[in-house]
Amino acid sequence: MPAGLTHRVLVLVSLLGFLWTVPELVSVRPASPTMEAQMFSLALKKGPTARQLQQKEHALSVVRKVAESRWSNHDVEVIPFGSSVTGLGEGSSDVDVVLFFPNGGPPPLEALRGLKQKLERQPDTKVLQSLLREKMKIPLLRLLIQGVQCDLTCQNVLPVFNTVLLRGYGSLCPKLNVLAIVIKRWAKKCRIGEVQNGFISSYTWTLMMIYYLQVCHGLPSLHVLSPHQALHRTPKNKTFAFGFLSTENRQKVRTPLNDLLRGFYEFYSEHFDWEYEVVSVRLGRRLSCKDSEFRLLPRKHLKAPRKKPKGPGIPLKTEGYPNILKVEDPIEISRNLNFALIPRTCDKIRSSIAAAFKSFQGPEEALLGDLTGLKRLKGTSERPQIRRFLRHRLPPGRSATAIVKNATDGGAVGCLECFRWMPNLDALEQHFLVTNHSGILEKVSGI
Ligand SMILES: [Zn+2]
Repeated sequence: MPAGLTHRVLVLVSLLGFLWTVPELVSVRPASPTMEAQMFSLALKKGPTARQLQQKEHALSVVRKVAESRWSNHDVEVIPFGSSVTGLGEGSSDVDVVLFFPNGGPPPLEALRGLKQKLERQPDTKVLQSLLREKMKIPLLRLLIQGVQCDLTCQNVLPVFNTVLLRGYGSLCPKLNVLAIVIKRWAKKCRIGEVQNGFISSYTWTLMMIYYLQVCHGLPSLHVLSPHQALHRTPKNKTFAFGFLSTENRQKVRTPLNDLLRGFYEFYSEHFDWEYEVVSVRLGRRLSCKDSEFRLLPRKHLKAPRKKPKGPGIPLKTEGYPNILKVEDPIEISRNLNFALIPRTCDKIRSSIAAAFKSFQGPEEALLGDLTGLKRLKGTSERPQIRRFLRHRLPPGRSATAIVKNATDGGAVGCLECFRWMPNLDALEQHFLVTNHSGILEKVSGI
């Protein structure tokens, strides 16, 4: 079939909504206990430990104590988020923390400036960096508390949703905790895991792994399971899907870890449609970017840089780059996580995935060491209970759980900082005056 015709058929089929079926992944080799042992070894070596958990809890308690003494007349909460809470990362990762005034407090910049002075007087606490200029979109204090790096922001509560969601997936399928460590290490070794360098974040790699488990191994979408399907948006058209199920029920994925890893590379190398498909953990099924579900997903990054005109008077042309990766943020669904990619970096991601898949066809002894850059990686004789990888996660805390729950109770208008809902805009304005909160959320109808 000519390429143009194939293209048109694909568009037609995608519009009909059944573009892809679940691929039957071809096993290049039978399951290897050696490879699985190596994966456990890596996860045991790099995954979070009881000692690291204790150190992180201590760091949190220092920030909490200082904040409570600084604002004794306010309710102030210290909420951790990020991979220390999801458990889907290495134990040495930083702790992201948000200082949260649920019933109102000083503006974020003022709050962090006040806290900085107090923290500097604490023993074993160092302020590594303070990004507290007026212009900063999200003011930040980078601290080192007894060897633990904490990135502290204020009232920046949205990442708590992504954290609770990913933690839910880790609880649902504990194998994800091991897979996430391996994938992130591999992406780091290939230098394709950092947004600053024009690639995608480790958060995006985790979403790609979850999506693969959803479409190839029956992992459900926690959004689809939720009874709360309403969407909310800000006046700047950022749109959010806050409704997802926080589940602790296990989903048995019986496939061995090493086959899951190989399947991940095989899926993105052989089956994933880079031109049309969107990695959507929210939907958990294979749909084209032309589907109405993705009406809000930004498309501007589908264009390659402008080409120089060949002669005077010829307008600048943009050349399409349809094969760029598309990844929907499952909470802020109007955000495409491909924002830092350009054709060259996207091609590097594809070729790295293809090379990883191909490497499974070679001798396997040192394969994981080759993939992750950890040479001489020896398998462990210990076959740990997979659930042990859930044990050393920081709990998100009651405030985070309450915020996530509040957001799904949604009314007409809400506050983007505390997710309380008001009957009308006048009541919300009053709430902003009293609390110093800001940011309007409106329920979206007819999307
Ligand atoms: Zn509020």
